Amino acid sequence: MSAPSDLSSKLDEASAAYEEFASRGLSLDITRGKPAPEQLDLAAGLLTAVSGDDFRSPGGVDTRNYGGLDGLIELREIFAPLLKVPADQLLAGGNASLTFMAQALTFALMHGTAVDDRPWGQGPHKLLCPVPGYDRHFTLAESLGFELLTIPMDDEGPIISEAQRLAEDPAVKGMWLVPMYSNPTGITVTEARARELAAMPTAAPDFTLLWDNAYGVHHLREDHPDNLDILSLCAEAGHPERAWVFASTSKITHAGAGVSFFAGGPATVDWMRANLGKVAIGPDKINQLRHVRFFSDSAGVEAHMRKHAEIVAPKFDAVLKALEDGLGAEELAQWTSPDGGYFITLTTMEGIADRVVKLAGEAGVKLTPAGATHPYGLDPHNNIIRIAPTMPTLDEVELAAQGLVACVRLASYEKLLAG
Ligand code: PMP
Repeated sequence: MSAPSDLSSKLDEASAAYEEFASRGLSLDITRGKPAPEQLDLAAGLLTAVSGDDFRSPGGVDTRNYGGLDGLIELREIFAPLLKVPADQLLAGGNASLTFMAQALTFALMHGTAVDDRPWGQGPHKLLCPVPGYDRHFTLAESLGFELLTIPMDDEGPIISEAQRLAEDPAVKGMWLVPMYSNPTGITVTEARARELAAMPTAAPDFTLLWDNAYGVHHLREDHPDNLDILSLCAEAGHPERAWVFASTSKITHAGAGVSFFAGGPATVDWMRANLGKVAIGPDKINQLRHVRFFSDSAGVEAHMRKHAEIVAPKFDAVLKALEDGLGAEELAQWTSPDGGYFITLTTMEGIADRVVKLAGEAGVKLTPAGATHPYGLDPHNNIIRIAPTMPTLDEVELAAQGLVACVRLASYEKLLAG
């Protein structure tokens, strides 16, 4: 630890650097994981892929009419191998996987699941939430009346001993998971950990892994992990219905105007189909056909994602470089170096994340509110900040990262000096 006089000169330097940055009057935003306009441009061909006289699916379906609850088979066949699920256990839906998640949870609350027809909503119902995690998972579950229980993660996934201990309570109905390039840490669940999750004893017979594979094809590097076949891992462990798989093309084609997917064990897919049939006559097959034509096949999706990586990877690298240059030597913080997905997680000294976010906001860099990565918005250590580098331009991301570094340095030295 530096002597107080060193610390006070470091604080003076950090304060001057911060003031200099703030005086530039910038307005930058690295809050939400949205694709940049150039990424959306990559899918421009979608908008002209179906026309007034060319609207039949390869199998001859008139996509303009009702029906086809499962979604177009040709689209399911493109995405099934990518998501490592059988095409006949994959449903293609509307524009948002979050809607599939809300529907599946609501059906379970009202009617029970494929494994146990006792409605979850009849008694206390709780979900395990690995942290840091995705804020919309938490707010959705909270709005449906689930009690949210936090569990820690390491770089292979959720800590099993803790999950298992909590799952001894029959009110614990499941666990949120983003298995590939998690939002917000970027970590990927390892096969060993997935096997443990699949096999874990639980008091609730229909304990469910809410396997939200939102970033399953969003690799940034040539060398990358592969998706896990979670349905087979669960079946091998004797829990064939344990995983509900969600995904979408929101960050592949057009965010909010893509196609969503749901997969599960055979009985779960029947259960979902039966419940869905009461709330919809069928999905938007015209948009599904656009996606079929735009991609042609699974290799088409992978080639498309490489173009995304060319745009996104330099932005990740810019943030990582700024963090290393500005914070690395003095070890003022730690951060994740994801190989895919949309986010980097910065871990500051305890108790200063909210101060960093406030300083950044006042200096023109908008950050996701501290605590957003935790259930009920409460980060007990107040040290997690989610960085979303995709949306701004590369120049803006570089500047925002420099600003963030200035804020972390100032808040860290304030804390060190305060003892
Ligand atoms: N899951 C995760 C983990 C996400 O990060 C996001 C988007 N930010 C979503 C789901 C939302 O997906 P969709 O647009 O398909 O609802």
